[in-house]
Amino acid sequence: MATKKQQISNKEFLKKLLGTVVPSGCEQDIVKTWVEEAKKITKNVYVDPVGSAHAIINPNAKRKIVIVGHCDEIGLIIRTISDDGFLRVGAIGGWDAQVVIGQRVMIKTRKGLVFGVVGKKPIHKIEDTKLASKLKDLFIDIGATSKKDAEKMVEIGDSMVLYQGYIELQNNTFSCRGCDDKVGTFIALEVLRKLSKQKLSVAVEAIASVQEEVGVRGIKTAAYLAQADVGFAVDVIPTNDTPDSVPDAEVILGNGGVIARGPHINTKLFELLEKTAKTKNIDYQVEASGRPFGTDVEPLQLSRGGVVSALVSIPCRYLHSPSEMCSFEDVQSTINLLVETINKITPKTDFSFIG
Ligand SMILES: [Zn+2]
Repeated sequence: MATKKQQISNKEFLKKLLGTVVPSGCEQDIVKTWVEEAKKITKNVYVDPVGSAHAIINPNAKRKIVIVGHCDEIGLIIRTISDDGFLRVGAIGGWDAQVVIGQRVMIKTRKGLVFGVVGKKPIHKIEDTKLASKLKDLFIDIGATSKKDAEKMVEIGDSMVLYQGYIELQNNTFSCRGCDDKVGTFIALEVLRKLSKQKLSVAVEAIASVQEEVGVRGIKTAAYLAQADVGFAVDVIPTNDTPDSVPDAEVILGNGGVIARGPHINTKLFELLEKTAKTKNIDYQVEASGRPFGTDVEPLQLSRGGVVSALVSIPCRYLHSPSEMCSFEDVQSTINLLVETINKITPKTDFSFIG
């Protein structure tokens, strides 16, 4: 990782987003926060029936560009409560049970937040220490004495996230639960904010999509409503720069946003991003995949009659763990890259497949 020091603008807004508790399906708090901020940029802001928020500038232009970052995070949902008051949970999104063990949780109930801990048999009583725990074996202890007692505080279907807040680390890096993809949601609005101060020939719509972690759902209705011609998804991507890395890609924390290549990405839009990064001297990396990336970019690309789409990802260490770690360098250079690239797009820019 290089040691640069780019200051990011509106860090407080990013911290506010990272502080919200938003397991997929319960995104109200982050959507409220995002909408409040979006209204400082444009009056064209709305929330669609599934929950995704939209903010549009220059709405009457001939061509529309969308930038989407999903605002939900992975979580757990209460499935049963035992007679002695312990909660059994199911996954919201993709979990490695090993990172859940020993954590604390914040449960979102109708009456507010309830805290709990993830229980596990102590080392003193474990016979086979090599056995990995499965999510279904874990339980949440909220300190209840019985099922009846627990039911005074929580209900079946209440969702939760791990209790792990924001910290700053060395060399312009930070860690928090849910960087995936509050960072992308932040970038989408920051790009809109920057573009709103410039003269534009295109319409630009930022979207905070919901329910990405449970099957890229919110983007489906959001993209349909947006009716865009060109779109950028902003998400996070695992890095390959830690001692336990699998060398299946070259993604390094702090080396810039990662521009995706593959069948899900429009070649001309990829080339425009790459060329812009080169000419404007913006750090970037490239990733490739022949299969779906599993991000908002796929439904975006296939929305209505098709959208010219690209994906830019923020390198993230320890993805889907409570200690996801990103670099401010990558956040800021991705904002710059998207602003500069969108600046190059006019209603006349040729994105035709064989032209
Ligand atoms: Zn994500």
